Amino acid sequence: MKKAKAKASKAASLAYNSKNGYESISPAELKRCEDMNKLYIQYLGKAKTEREAHDEAIELLEAAGYTDMALNEKTGQKLNPGAKVYRSCEGKTLMACVIGRRPFEAGMHIVGGHTDAPRIDIKQNPLFENSEMAMLDTHYYGGIKKYQWLTIPLALHGVFVKPDGKKITIKIGEDAADPVFCITDLLPHLAADQYKKTLGEAVPGDSLDLILSSMPVADKDQKEKYKYNALKMLAQRYGVNEHDFLSAELELVPAGMPREAGLDRSMILAYGHDDRVCSYAALKALLDLEGTPEYTSMVLLCDKEEIGSMGATGMASFFFENTAAELLNLTSASYSELALKRGLNNSWMLSADVNGLFDPLFAGAFEKRNSALLNHGVCVTKFTGSRGKSGSSDASAEFMAQIRRIFDKAGVVWQTGELGKVDQGGGGTIAYLMARYGMKVVDCGVGLFSMHAPMELAGKLDIYMAYKGYLAFMKDGRGK
Ligand code: MN
Ligand code: MN
Repeated sequence: MKKAKAKASKAASLAYNSKNGYESISPAELKRCEDMNKLYIQYLGKAKTEREAHDEAIELLEAAGYTDMALNEKTGQKLNPGAKVYRSCEGKTLMACVIGRRPFEAGMHIVGGHTDAPRIDIKQNPLFENSEMAMLDTHYYGGIKKYQWLTIPLALHGVFVKPDGKKITIKIGEDAADPVFCITDLLPHLAADQYKKTLGEAVPGDSLDLILSSMPVADKDQKEKYKYNALKMLAQRYGVNEHDFLSAELELVPAGMPREAGLDRSMILAYGHDDRVCSYAALKALLDLEGTPEYTSMVLLCDKEEIGSMGATGMASFFFENTAAELLNLTSASYSELALKRGLNNSWMLSADVNGLFDPLFAGAFEKRNSALLNHGVCVTKFTGSRGKSGSSDASAEFMAQIRRIFDKAGVVWQTGELGKVDQGGGGTIAYLMARYGMKVVDCGVGLFSMHAPMELAGKLDIYMAYKGYLAFMKDGRGK
């Protein structure tokens, strides 16, 4: 018997198999996992747009003693090791960091996620009347399967900005007493033609019109009574008119709060896990970082990832680089571009984004041995891309080895996984944008079921292990 056991353990040390984290997690750690996920559910319920995710993050950061770096930039007040600051970009993208003991040139430890999520945006001239209803024209944002967004309760979140700068914030559909909105679908009885179309063609993007209201204004002589009544309500309740849609950002998101899922409550069903789940785990890790880290620990919560990271608030912009320049200036006696470049080049980064979980219902789309599995921990993805790894920022074996060292030492339950079967599709993250600086970067995040659907499903243990991994990464002194 003893011999057989020894043989088995020798084989186990030679062979690699990721393991279900519930088989080894201690009761004390399970409690920490539960506590962390409770806080995540609270955050996610309040952070349903990139603006809300940004504002909620600042609230948490300020409560933990972080201050706006803009003040230091203005006054020139230097930042010493241990200083905690954040920097905002247009109320959507956010950087937060704790200054480390080593100088800027030594590099930073960055964990970067994104806070925008697939959704349905309202167009700039959206309001029209059709068949005795007031309707809003929409333009979807990010990669959605359009049919999934029909018939479900939708909430309207966003802002109107007046020419004088006055901002009117809208959130309709989240309070139990609020009305919700809906885009309709065709009844199956009459769907003979629709059924013949492919899944991708059955619901054209242009047909995603929202019913805003259906009561006419009482005035008999009024033209477009239904549209006019909607405008009257918007004016009375929010002080906005049709012109104000021109300078508005209104987003339709699935209404309602995140819910625990499963008889054992081991999962969370919610809108917007991609990528608020990694974003929150990163933020929470930064907030829980005790003392002064060896290397400056930074969290990036980015906008526009779902549409290619373009624009001023996307990671293809200079926001990150400019922020790094300000940090160098505020943490050193003199500023030089060479020092900036060295600091960026010497940085390490976890691109904190989600991956697809192996789904037995669609097993054919995955290669199980190289897919993320539910409850097998945070997923490290060496490369993304599609076809022949096209578009991927392939992390080096050397950096993967460092991640193994950090995660294994900290007792992080983790796995490796690529997105689906070869030639089945693919995806990308912000990793390649950061890798341009020469920094070491690898994708590392939570696996999801039903990614980009109105409701995505994630496992609590995987979420907690992402947090634990990010924290260990921030604390790491690079083995010295
Ligand atoms: Mn993502
Ligand atoms: Mn995505």
